[in-house]
Amino acid sequence: MAIKMDGKALAAKLRMQIRDEVAILARKPTLAVVLVGDDPASQVYVRNKEKDCEECGILSQGYRLPADTTEKQLLDLIDVLNQNALVDGILVQLPLPNHISEQKVIHAICPDKDVDAFHPFNVGKIVTGEDGFLPCTPAGVMELLKEYQIEIAGKKCVVVGRSNIVGKPMALLLLRESGTVTICHSKTSHLEEITKKADILVSAVGKVGIITGDMVKDGAVVVDVAMNHNAEGKLCGDCIYDEVAAKASYITPVPGGVGPMTRLILMKNTLTAAKMHIKE
Ligand code: NAP
Repeated sequence: MAIKMDGKALAAKLRMQIRDEVAILARKPTLAVVLVGDDPASQVYVRNKEKDCEECGILSQGYRLPADTTEKQLLDLIDVLNQNALVDGILVQLPLPNHISEQKVIHAICPDKDVDAFHPFNVGKIVTGEDGFLPCTPAGVMELLKEYQIEIAGKKCVVVGRSNIVGKPMALLLLRESGTVTICHSKTSHLEEITKKADILVSAVGKVGIITGDMVKDGAVVVDVAMNHNAEGKLCGDCIYDEVAAKASYITPVPGGVGPMTRLILMKNTLTAAKMHIKE
């Protein structure tokens, strides 16, 4: 039976380290958190981010805007936050209502306040391996792999999913650590033939039960990024957990695996932004 990689415990430990680093800064870092509309899941995510800030000693400024906020109004707010020297990070909770272009909003955030690392400038740095903001979910996965001393160099790594937020940057970070990386997506044929070869399998699809025990090699390390709801409304990942855990050597649970680590990296990025701004 696989060892559970406990993201909740690791994130709690690393949050304390961030709190210690924040405590010695010349001023408290500030994260602006913008939520447009009243999507219940987004409201939970935003509340969690504000709670994390509090625990780390980071100030959070919440902006709750109605669902009929125009694109211009949102861009104007981002402009004001960009200009405010006391705001270190700007996080606009996605998804946005359909009438607002996410791409325009991402492009509008000043790259040195882009703590989600979604701006093309920061994505470019991730590609070239330059220092900068970390992609939250993939970097959280890397911290977990490090904590459990999972070797990546030379290992066959398979990432299922190619989104800009998870799949693509995940593949890049594994490649940076010299993994031999394959990316799969909805057009991949014979997915199971590829996943079965993986020493490290990362699933970021968002479909309950898409990864079965048969698709996993004995002893593989399995990271389940997904946050799905099963038929009973319970939070679950992409893996049929019991089947996959019976084959794997390590596995992340859902909840309590990757989710808390994603939140942690956002705090780390906000600290990085504040250090940069305080120096200026
Ligand atoms: P997304 O943008 O919907 O991307 C899903 C990816 O899965 C796409 O690349 C898609 O391929 C691929 N896919 C769909 N069906 C497939 C199939 N049958 N076989 C192989 N690949 C398939 O989702 P996302 O934003 O990356 O998020 C993925 C999951 O992670 C979701 O459950 C989300 O809630 C979760 N998530 C968790 C965290 C966390 O902190 N734990 C953070 C972010 C996201 P195509 O590109 O071909 O369509």
